[in-house]
Formats: sequence, C-alpha cells, structure tokens
Amino acid sequence: MNIFIHGNLYGMDSDAFTVEDGIFTSFGNSEDLVLDAGEDDEIIDLNHSFVSPGFIDSHLHLVEYGAFLKNVQLQNCFGVEDILRKLSHQLERVKQGEWLLGRGFNEEFFDVPEQLEKRHLDSLSTVVPIAVTRSCGHKMVVNSKALELAGIDEDTQVEGGVIDFERGMLEENAVTLLHSAWPEETEDSIRECILRAQKELNRYGITSVGSDDFVSLTSDWRMVLRVFSRMAYKGELTVRVNEQCEFPSLEEFAEFLDEGNTFDDGDDFFRIGPLKLITDGSLGARTAALKQPYSDDPTRSGYMTYSTEEMEQWIQLATNYNMPTICHAIGDRAVEEVLNLFDEAVLESNPLHHGLVHCQIMDKEEIRRAIDQKLICYVQSLFIDTDAPMLEERVGTARAETSYPFHTLYEGTIVCNGSDAPVETPDVMKGIELAVTRTMIHGDASMNPKECMNVEEALASYTINGAKAMFAEDRLGKLQEGALADFAVLSEDPRTCEPKDIHKIRVLMTVMNGEIV
Ligand SMILES: [Zn+2]
Repeated sequence: MNIFIHGNLYGMDSDAFTVEDGIFTSFGNSEDLVLDAGEDDEIIDLNHSFVSPGFIDSHLHLVEYGAFLKNVQLQNCFGVEDILRKLSHQLERVKQGEWLLGRGFNEEFFDVPEQLEKRHLDSLSTVVPIAVTRSCGHKMVVNSKALELAGIDEDTQVEGGVIDFERGMLEENAVTLLHSAWPEETEDSIRECILRAQKELNRYGITSVGSDDFVSLTSDWRMVLRVFSRMAYKGELTVRVNEQCEFPSLEEFAEFLDEGNTFDDGDDFFRIGPLKLITDGSLGARTAALKQPYSDDPTRSGYMTYSTEEMEQWIQLATNYNMPTICHAIGDRAVEEVLNLFDEAVLESNPLHHGLVHCQIMDKEEIRRAIDQKLICYVQSLFIDTDAPMLEERVGTARAETSYPFHTLYEGTIVCNGSDAPVETPDVMKGIELAVTRTMIHGDASMNPKECMNVEEALASYTINGAKAMFAEDRLGKLQEGALADFAVLSEDPRTCEPKDIHKIRVLMTVMNGEIV
C-alpha cells in the first residue's frame, strides 16, 4: 500500500489517502494514516502540494500525436523561409523510401502574408517526398514527388476535398488521399506512436483520453484496435483510452459492428467509445461550413464533408447499436445540420451521450438547441490562444459574439475539455488559464469575456466532466474512495493562483492506476 500524506486535495477535507492495487482505498488525515501504516507500506510526502484528479483530455488523436512528435515541428514558424530551414535540417536524416513530414505551421503567424507552395518544397528536393500539414490538420502542402507517389495529377478530383495541383495544396479528403500513399504502418510503428504520445501526455498530468485513431496514419482500424487491446492487456498503457471510432466508409463501420464490436466494450485501460463523424473543416483553413460567407473572404463559406442523407445513415446505424455519435462541427452551418439530425436521434436528456466536438461558430439559437438536447460538448479552450487574433476577421463581430460559448454551454450541458492534439499541445494548465481568462497567453487578443469559466468549472471540464462523457464518473475524474487511483500533483493551487499565471503551474507528479508515470 502507498500512503500519500500532506496533500492539498481537491474537493476533499482530508489531507492524505492510501492507494492499493490501483484504487484509492481510504482518505483521512496524515497523522492517522501514518500511525496505521504497516511495515511494507510506503509513505510519500506531498509537501502540501495541490492534488487534482488525473486530467482527462476528452478529444485528441493519440496515434497521430505520437507520429507528430517524431515529425518536424513547425508550430513556431514565422514564414516560408523559416519552414524550409527547419525541413532542410531534417532532410539529411531521411532514409531511402521514407518521407519528410512536417506539421503545425499556421500562416496567420507569418511576419509577411505568404503561402507555402509546391515550388518551395521542390526547391528542397524532388526526390524525397515532402508533405507539410497545417496546424489544423485539414490542409496540406506537398512537393511533386509526394503528388506522384499519391497518384495525383492535374485531372485528379476528390469528393469532399480540394486539390490545387499547381501549388501542391490539398484540403480535407484530398489530405486523406495523400495519407494513403505514405509508407505502410505496422503494429510496431503504431505501438511506438502510442508509447511516445502517452509519455508526453503524462507530463501534463493527463491520465485518460478520448482518442480518435481509426482513420489516422492508417485506415486499417482493425490493426489499431489490435494494438490498443494488446497494450491494455499487457499493462503498457499509461493513459486510459476511450476510442472515438472514425471510419473511412459506412461499409467499414457496418463491418466493425458485424464483427461484434460494441460501444463501451473493453476494460479500464481501453474501451470502445462513440462513433466520431467529421462533418466540416476548420476555421483556420476557412473550410468550416458557415451559413454566411467568411468575413475576410466573401468567395468562401466552407463545406460539409457528408451529405445530409449520408450523415443520417451513419447516425442511424450507430443509434441502432446503442452507440452514441459525436460530430466534429466547427462552422454554424455544420452545427445546424448536426442539431437537425440529432433532433431525430437524441432521446430526452440524451441518455446515449451524443455530442458536439469543438463548439466554435454557433449562433444563439444553436446554443439553445444544444442545451435543449443536453449534448456532451467537447471543447478546446486551448484553441483560444490560436484563434483569438483571427476570429473577428474570419466571421465578423456579430458571429464572434456568440462563438466559443463555453460558459453558457457549461451551465446547460456537460462540457469536457481537451487539446485535439496534435492540433494543440495538450498542456492542461494552459487550457485551464485560457478557459478562465479567454485571453492569449502571450498577447492581448481575447474572446467575449462573458464566456469565461471560473477555475472550478475549468477543472471540472478536465476531470469529472470528461469522466461523465466516458460513462465512467463512478470510477474516474474524482478523488474518492473506490475510484481508480489517477491523480496529478501540481506546484500550486490553480484556485488561488493569479489567473494569468496558471500556465506557469508545473505538474510535479502524475499517477495513473496507482503507479507514478
Ligand atoms: Zn480532432
């Protein structure tokens, strides 16, 4: 048994607890628990540090994040030059048959407005295939060799996507087409990605994730499922995974169900979660589906990735199997489509836990409907740091006013927080600060302050509400006798810290299933 003493325990009057076999076995005061200690018990002094339930990142892409950590990191690039310099460093290390992959650039942060194009990447190499993904993941720039290997020429067209062959720019489903040309992933390479990603997540105090991995580096979802199941069985997972199941086609989803996979099947380490549908694009790439055109580009209003009929079929099939559906919907047109479909599929109080992922551009009526339907709202307060400077440009003042309505949704639905990693770094302290201040960490831009959450609400969005979304609030997301022993020890109590300094709080220790990870 391990005895943790002298802690500032979130939501508890006691200051100490015991952990045995991965479970919180008792709470009490330090003196009493030390007195009761047996010879083999280990006593760990927390020095009055704040102890939070283990953080739950309710939506990210574990496998892709692991791959991302291996790729060239482009999130702090301030121009095309900068991107090319970083890529060229890595180019020498690329072996025969490998691709040079980069991810994370965002032209919003460039010093001068310019676009990365095929010709830039061709200047590095026309022999090594190069593919560079925008921070949002919905847009990619590639060189000639990459296009050739993907079998894309001037005439290639793809449904639900855009190919600009001349400039080597791909959007949405065209990105997926490119992925299919990448070297085959193996069970080992997927496992390595997961190991790499979970290690990084543990550093931020994260012990559980809702993760979307079936359509990522590979669309071989059976392989991904096998890897996770085996890792869970062998005790290799240091984050609990609730899989948000995405499929390349409705047929494959039907096969998944036919083969006996059911929602909530699994154990405390890996579990089948909801069906995940991506219904539109991203705000950054101006591919999120809006009702009115983009304010900074009246020729565009984004697009839906599925027709209404197709979406109806997916949701219907899932519902028939008692599987909830969660929909990525960023633009107000996509949100409206989803709400219309959910009107049919959602029962009173939403017992199945259908959900809306992202909750960004919404109008008053849509917010009201999401609350009426009691949807689970998967938000990313971390996006505020990236999106605050561009939101009004993209959608104008009126639409910005009701966008990212996290507090209003919190009051009426279950709001769970996350990073969408690799879209954002899964830094929970930063996420809590942004939820509370709605102001950039290093900058003045902010979003409608009436939607600020307080620290308690932000903590709940990263703990108990994440557990609720995963149907696991009886054993996850709280410090309580009998619950799974997942917790994070912080250098400071975020409730008493200056809000603008919350991001500086360090995670001193992360414990998952009773083990220090
Ligand atoms: Zn995502």
